[in-house]
Amino acid sequence: MRRYILPEYVVERDDLKCTRCKICVEQCTYGVHHYNAAKNTIEGRSELCVDCLRCVLFCPVNAITVRRNPNVYKENYHWTYEFIVSIKRQAETGSALLSGMGCDKPHLTYWDKLLLNACQVTNPPIDPIREPIEIRTYLGRKPKTLEFKINGGDITLETKLEPSLCAETPILFAAMSYGALNLNVHEALARAAEDCGTYFNCGEGGLHPSLYKYSNHAIVQVASGRFGVDLKYLNVGAAIEIKIGQGAKPGIGGHLPGEKVSNDIAMARMIPAGTDALSPAPHHDIYSIEDLRQLIYALKEATEYMKPIAVKIAAVHNSAAIASGIVRAGADIIVLDGVRGATGAAPKAIRDNVGIPIELAIASVDQRLRDEGIRDEVSLIASGGIRSSADVVKAIALGADAVYIGTAALIAMGCTLCQKCYSGKCPWGIATTDQEISSRLNPEEAYKRVVNLVKSWSIEIKEMLGAMGMDAIESLRGNRELLRGVGLTDRELKILGVKMAGE
Ligand code: SF4
Ligand code: SF4
Repeated sequence: MRRYILPEYVVERDDLKCTRCKICVEQCTYGVHHYNAAKNTIEGRSELCVDCLRCVLFCPVNAITVRRNPNVYKENYHWTYEFIVSIKRQAETGSALLSGMGCDKPHLTYWDKLLLNACQVTNPPIDPIREPIEIRTYLGRKPKTLEFKINGGDITLETKLEPSLCAETPILFAAMSYGALNLNVHEALARAAEDCGTYFNCGEGGLHPSLYKYSNHAIVQVASGRFGVDLKYLNVGAAIEIKIGQGAKPGIGGHLPGEKVSNDIAMARMIPAGTDALSPAPHHDIYSIEDLRQLIYALKEATEYMKPIAVKIAAVHNSAAIASGIVRAGADIIVLDGVRGATGAAPKAIRDNVGIPIELAIASVDQRLRDEGIRDEVSLIASGGIRSSADVVKAIALGADAVYIGTAALIAMGCTLCQKCYSGKCPWGIATTDQEISSRLNPEEAYKRVVNLVKSWSIEIKEMLGAMGMDAIESLRGNRELLRGVGLTDRELKILGVKMAGE
């Protein structure tokens, strides 16, 4: 069938600058550039370009420019380029459209409509360079009161503390599975977690044995496919996360095609090599809060009540009521993953249209749990499109205890958000298990980049806390008085629980 789709990008080469070094030919995993020996020239097939910018960044003489194709369909407010191309693609393939990474639609990003407070005159700020500011974060069930036994000069804690995670920064790495990513990426995240005193999450694909040495910093996931789950796996992690849903594809399962299931991935997932790894949409043993409670307590039993159990859900319309049920089911941590949450592959229609912004979900869940007097029985992790230290601070002021970052960590490693993670050809060697392409990612360098990112954000978090006169992140949690909204309706402000700027 003849293609009726206009190429989205045009790749231009400055022939006077080009030295025919062929680096672009080697670097483009999509086969755009090729060398014509007869003419001694590099030629290009722009229609294959995905705008990953690998060739642009690697060209030693800056000879390449990638532009949006100026030949657009006739301008139409309703029938935009994206809708026309989607229809043409579906007319040619008969398939659901896939995409990678998170929703890129212009749904309101509430972080950009929220501003933070700062001390002026009557309450002094704290200088984070000269005075200590605590951002260590404990995640898990907290006791309502503490009882001590005083015996002469000895004071001992009588209250039995529940198991919890202790992170030196409120930034953890989100679940990303081995299979969606390669082992280099997992290793970089594991080392970064250890270095920063935080946690990585192995996602639903099991934990590769070579990463067991980082297990004190690992959160192991139990998803609907139960890949890689056995007693050893459950006990090796610092915490266990039950994945009910994720922000990029709420309500649907996952699929890793058999051709990507190499021997190593098969071993980690505990499935035969070369077979499709299908995660069902529901957990086939969970149809109610009572069923969830059974799984939570089965996992607690299996780990002798030594590990906090997290439950991850996508942020959806009634997250507050669901979260209340999850607390009552015995979870120690709830992860809320908003509509901007990313993934290796998701149906585009689901990714862009299902779920709600994380800002509204966190605020409503935190408020509901406070109203019910059960907020201290659980920690909340906000996830899905956290872009900066300011987003982290705003998330905690809205009611989160900590955040997960996924996309930001991958961008730190090199990802340019081309959204072609599902193709297996990730030009930065991240979302691919192809051995040759994976070798593009140097785990040593990737780990250092991620550590630098977390360190920079942690410094900025301390600066923002200091500016607000706070010496501990604990005082920020759910402290919405420190936030003001701009350009939001009364209803939005009410759900967020923040006042209008100027009030
Ligand atoms: S796909 Fe990436 S590497 Fe290939 S031409 Fe386009 S920008 Fe360059
Ligand atoms: S991980 Fe790779 S394929 Fe996915 S968006 Fe980033 S650069 Fe593109």
